[in-house]
Amino acid sequence: MASSNSMHLIVLPGDGIGPEITAAAVAVLEAASDRFDLGLRLEHDIAGYASLERHGTTVRGELLEKVRAADGLVLGPMSTFDYTDESKGGVNPSMFFRKNLDLFANVRPARTYPGVPHHAAQDFDLVVVRENTEGFYADRNMESGGSEILVTPDVCISMRRITRACCERIARAAFRLAAARKRHVSIVHKANVLKIGDGIFIEECRKVAAEFPEVVVDDFIIDAMCAHVVRAPARFDVIVTTNMFGDILSDLTAELSGSLGLGGSVNAGTRYAMAQAAHGSAPDIAGQDRANPFSLILSTAQLLDWHADRLGSATFAAASRAIEAAVEEAVAAGESTPDVGGHFGTAATGAGIAQRVRAMAGTA
Ligand code: NAD
Repeated sequence: MASSNSMHLIVLPGDGIGPEITAAAVAVLEAASDRFDLGLRLEHDIAGYASLERHGTTVRGELLEKVRAADGLVLGPMSTFDYTDESKGGVNPSMFFRKNLDLFANVRPARTYPGVPHHAAQDFDLVVVRENTEGFYADRNMESGGSEILVTPDVCISMRRITRACCERIARAAFRLAAARKRHVSIVHKANVLKIGDGIFIEECRKVAAEFPEVVVDDFIIDAMCAHVVRAPARFDVIVTTNMFGDILSDLTAELSGSLGLGGSVNAGTRYAMAQAAHGSAPDIAGQDRANPFSLILSTAQLLDWHADRLGSATFAAASRAIEAAVEEAVAAGESTPDVGGHFGTAATGAGIAQRVRAMAGTA
């Protein structure tokens, strides 16, 4: 049962660097719970390779029931590219939870930080709001079966699903967010080619825009948008787009901000939400205490903010802001991993953020 003075989360560390960055994120969550008296209950379980070895599947069906009895989950990155055969237990856990919990909004902020070298022409602070439940994703846009069909060994057809209902709800999530930020939404699409599907997407976004007259709206074709965000990212606030464009564009904006390891990401529905780093399992640096934990730590801050918004809890909102502020202070002080200019390992970076959160002034 959701409560404004408690939150119950399932923690699944994942593959590759997952266990290392999840341990760092858990240290920070525990610090936030102590400092802000959040009553956070973290229940640890496994998914990914550890689960495949022990249970014969990367994600057990009963995990869904566990998460449904909670408020959401923290999901570490998974080596999904290696899970080739669902019949042998290789299910993509990210898809599994996004689809079964109807986590329709993938919210992926990207911003520059003082002291962190970045790849953009200017400082910026924007959010990509990506539709998460349909589009070109063969594994989630059909009730049963996938939407990639091998017609002959040399011919494949990939189908994209676009529905008015999903366009409308992602647009509403984007406009609500923009109303609380810089009041600007950019609709990103490819309606010059995908005339029907992206035509529906633009129409639904424009309908929702009419309910938010204080929010400025513009729209861009995805290819041109890639040039615009590289050239002048500061002109953007909230970018709303369909699934695959959002997936790609948000990696670009995260990397522009300094590192893919700096991009937080929450997958939000109405009843549940899932914190998930924007990057993958980075097997090339796994087990070396080199992985940047900021993405998952910032994702957990977003998860607390989602809970705050759902329950109108100023305390959870303050805890979320404290984690973000602690990350900002840590990167400015060089207390971070080498990929963002610091000299700390993963565990020490997490411990440093946790310590800053515990010492953080300010309350709800
Ligand atoms: P990746 O994001 O794991 O790594 C790309 C590059 O970025 C690598 O050089 C890696 O070392 C670096 N990197 C990533 N995260 C980092 C971090 N936190 N700190 C420092 N450096 C970091 O992408 P990939 O190599 O293409 O994929 C590896 C596996 O992850 C694949 O199996 C892929 O399918 C999977 N994947 C999973 C998710 C997810 O679970 N959400 C997302 C993307 C990719």
